[in-house]
Amino acid sequence: MELGFTPEQELLRRNAREFAARHVAPLAAAVDEEARHPAEVFAGLAEGGWLGIPIPVEYGGAGADFVSHCIAVEEISRACSSTGFTLSFHAGIIGLALLNHGTARQREEYLVPLAKGRHLGAFSLTEPGAGTDVMAIGATAVRDGGDYVLNGVKTFVSNGPIADTYIFFVWTDRAARGRGMSAFIVPRGTPGLYPQEAMKKMGLRGSQTSEVILKDCRVGEENRLGAEGEGLAVAMAGFERGRVGIAAQACGILGAALEESIRHARDRVQFGRPIASHQAVAWMLADMATDLEAARHLTYHAARLRDAGRPFAKEASMAKLFATEAAMRNTVKAVQIHGGYGYVKGAKVERLMRDAKIAEIYEGTSEAQRMIISGRVVRP
Ligand SMILES: Cc1cc2nc3c(=O)[nH]c(=O)nc-3n(C[C@H](O)[C@H](O)[C@H](O)COP(=O)(O)OP(=O)(O)OC[C@H]3O[C@@H](n4cnc5c(N)ncnc54)[C@H](O)[C@@H]3O)c2cc1C
Repeated sequence: MELGFTPEQELLRRNAREFAARHVAPLAAAVDEEARHPAEVFAGLAEGGWLGIPIPVEYGGAGADFVSHCIAVEEISRACSSTGFTLSFHAGIIGLALLNHGTARQREEYLVPLAKGRHLGAFSLTEPGAGTDVMAIGATAVRDGGDYVLNGVKTFVSNGPIADTYIFFVWTDRAARGRGMSAFIVPRGTPGLYPQEAMKKMGLRGSQTSEVILKDCRVGEENRLGAEGEGLAVAMAGFERGRVGIAAQACGILGAALEESIRHARDRVQFGRPIASHQAVAWMLADMATDLEAARHLTYHAARLRDAGRPFAKEASMAKLFATEAAMRNTVKAVQIHGGYGYVKGAKVERLMRDAKIAEIYEGTSEAQRMIISGRVVRP
């Protein structure tokens, strides 16, 4: 089996590729051009059970492993990286956060509709003054009887304009630093929750990103996810899983770029022969294929560690760092191989290059990944 996948995982890959080719790829260019959330694609993903792969069956998911979730993210991202990204954080970050830290009531009320694809989620830590430096957030939750009152401004919230279930990270005790942040579930429609308009972006245009304002937003104690002071741990565990998902997304982007480049290099004739037979082009294809292979090994190694219940923070960061930088440098090569035809709107590689860039930034920049990795390899 390729990369040591089980027969079940191989079957899932074939099904995901078929679903993506039939239902996701045909809309990808229009979704990018119109910068819209493809609701019809998500209806299909929900119906096919793709939105809850790593969630137990009793909570509306497929009860499969994290490797299977990453396979689906990779395959869907090959067709449309915006859709692959949403799939990645929907189940891999939000669904599993509700499963791992939620109460029985929270799982029933928020996880089940999420896993079944009836609801979309958002996971919101970043603020205008707090990106890489997450401890610089300013949002707060102040206790008032049995309630909490939330205030603050969150930014770059994926699904911000359209989510049904938001998870916010805010201070409940700023002085306690790492043990003073808490997570809260805020359903859409809660008074004081103000999702803003979608931002216009360079790439990943099918994913809706916005600011979300919390102004005297009151939620009950039963909406706190995890214990008071556990928020940072909830967020970091989510991003650890999410980084493996982003690595899978990057593998999908890189795989699509390689496929397009091979096709073009075989078809395009210059100097009387296909450009693939010119060594300079052939070597670019060789480098792309090698990077893809390495990226996939790192990605699925990290996912397997997670499935085995072993620590995987370093491996998640390595996978994200390598796969996303590989996707970026190789989508640039893919445009180069396409020459002028790769530079015009409508060329798939042009979209892939724009989509690749964000993967080096969100869920921790490449610099942040290097900080995490070096912290672990330098420490004795
Ligand atoms: C499309 C999109 C979707 C997103 N979705 C979400 C979401 O759903 N939820 C959420 O919470 N956030 C989300 N984000 C936010 C994303 O995680 C942040 O943009 C990212 O963490 C970087 O933060 P920043 O943009 O504030 O950059 P900054 O932190 O200001 O960094 C700017 C530059 O400085 C570098 N830098 C910063 N500190 C250091 C340091 N100590 N050492 C070396 N270099 C450093 C960074 O690596 C980067 O190159 C999203 C962002 C985008 C663009």
